[in-house]
Amino acid sequence: MVVGGGLAGIAAALECASAGAAVTLLEARGRLGGAAYSFTRDGIVADNGQHVFLRCCTAYRDLLSRIEASDLVTLQPRLAIPVLAPGGEVAWLRRSGLPAPLHLAGALLRYPFLPARERASLALAMRALGTVDPEDPAADARSFGEWLAAHHQSPRAVEAMWDLIARPTLNLLVEDASLAQAAYVFQQGLLRDRAAGDIGFARVPLGEIHDVAARRALAQAGVEVRLRQGVTAIVPESEGFRVEAGAVAPLTADGVILAVSQLRVGRLLPPGSGVDPARLARLGTSPIVNLHVVYDRPVFDQPFAAGVRTPVQWIFDRTSGSQREHGQYVAISLSAADAELDMTVEELRQRFLLALAELLPAARGAEVETFFVTREHAATFRAAPGARALRPGTRTSIDGLVLAGAWTDTGWPATMEGAVRSGLAAAREVLRVAVRKSELGAAVAA
Ligand SMILES: Cc1cc2nc3c(=O)[nH]c(=O)nc-3n(C[C@H](O)[C@H](O)[C@H](O)COP(=O)(O)OP(=O)(O)OC[C@H]3O[C@@H](n4cnc5c(N)ncnc54)[C@H](O)[C@@H]3O)c2cc1C
Repeated sequence: MVVGGGLAGIAAALECASAGAAVTLLEARGRLGGAAYSFTRDGIVADNGQHVFLRCCTAYRDLLSRIEASDLVTLQPRLAIPVLAPGGEVAWLRRSGLPAPLHLAGALLRYPFLPARERASLALAMRALGTVDPEDPAADARSFGEWLAAHHQSPRAVEAMWDLIARPTLNLLVEDASLAQAAYVFQQGLLRDRAAGDIGFARVPLGEIHDVAARRALAQAGVEVRLRQGVTAIVPESEGFRVEAGAVAPLTADGVILAVSQLRVGRLLPPGSGVDPARLARLGTSPIVNLHVVYDRPVFDQPFAAGVRTPVQWIFDRTSGSQREHGQYVAISLSAADAELDMTVEELRQRFLLALAELLPAARGAEVETFFVTREHAATFRAAPGARALRPGTRTSIDGLVLAGAWTDTGWPATMEGAVRSGLAAAREVLRVAVRKSELGAAVAA
């Protein structure tokens, strides 16, 4: 039994089914995809938040291929990020064909938003970050912002470069993030393999991938998916588990993968699980806000861009097929958006339409046809100093009850990749227990 149909639950269910298990997946909502989903508003199919992955997200990319959705995403052949500043200035962060970390040297040395001295200092700090051990508890206890200051990174360098990468990947400001987690992200994405940081994104609404394609693949794999079945209790019994889900008759299972968010897991864990919900609560959460803007004409000629010296962190072109004839739909993604979370729609509209007009000359004369906001208050857990020690592994103290979710101890920050990896790890663990029990049963019978 898999409880929760986010990416962790989907990956776990497929893995168990491919090993020959009879799998039922219970999902509280009327769709799969969890935190990465789409909805329709004002005639637009929008994502709750822009979701980006990197070439190094191998587990997520394998899942895409498993659910036959690889052609619904785009993966850059080579990392290339346009960085926009007010006044229409554009710089490119492009990788070269040199081996990592030299593949970024050219882009950093030419980067116009920092003076030459700070660019050199940035390159040195990047190299030093490559030597930080992400497994070191002392690095996890330390703030990334404090480490950057100790490595002579000015507030300008933080704004123009470090935040550009750390904020969307960690969903925290550098001063709030764990050094170990930041080192992990930079090492995985930028410092070890020149192709690792190539950026991927969905070409279609996320629901077509994480709900429609996933459901099709699960059905083909023989997984029974039950939507709108919020699990209320998991009760260990002598021969497995009883799983209660609202008004329907209780179900039974040999093993249970609990793949809900860290906010929900506490109330479902039976006594004796060995997982302390109070510790999970200490992980905390961090918000993401997205602004959805439809202009009456094209204003932006890139699939995405980052911003400096502007409140616009990242902007994505989300215009689909026929929309393109009428205008352009762009989405602004704001990570660690504590300030924006409290702003009214009107305040956000005033501030960000002005900022877009400063970045995109073509937006100045364009009419805004639609503007709406999506707020994810608890988008991710906080990869803050000390977070690693709070993230539990897959196993619980109850044989056959295992945990999955981006918040478990995968090493990754709260990402689609982390979610899928956690699901695969949980599947391996529950299958291991099942094999052991059946061997035991066979031995007893013999
Ligand atoms: C706005 C936003 C932007 C993001 N951007 C990125 C990005 O660019 N790149 C990236 O890699 N990641 C990004 N993330 C993070 C990523 O979406 C998550 O880390 C990942 O989707 C989490 O998957 P999960 O399966 O662990 O958990 P979830 O997606 O939370 O899935 C848990 C599921 O359990 C279900 N559930 C809960 N309680 C019950 C119950 N009692 N019974 C049955 N089912 C239950 C829920 O309905 C949900 O479907 C973003 C997240 C947000 C919110």
